[in-house]
Amino acid sequence: MPFPSSVNSNLLRLDVLACPACRGDLQPEADRLCCAACGRRYPVIDGIPVLIAERAEAPSHS
Ligand SMILES: [Zn+2]
Repeated sequence: MPFPSSVNSNLLRLDVLACPACRGDLQPEADRLCCAACGRRYPVIDGIPVLIAERAEAPSHS
């Protein structure tokens, strides 16, 4: 039996996503996910969140 086609949409369930740097909650922005705890921002490429600390934009220190 094939997997249901809804499997891919589960990748974007934000309640299962956490910041890889601090495990904080991720908040959706325009085309990225922003960590509410540490301020890192993760790109979303082709609908797939890239939750890699080295790829994150560090929070500005202004
Ligand atoms: Zn974080």
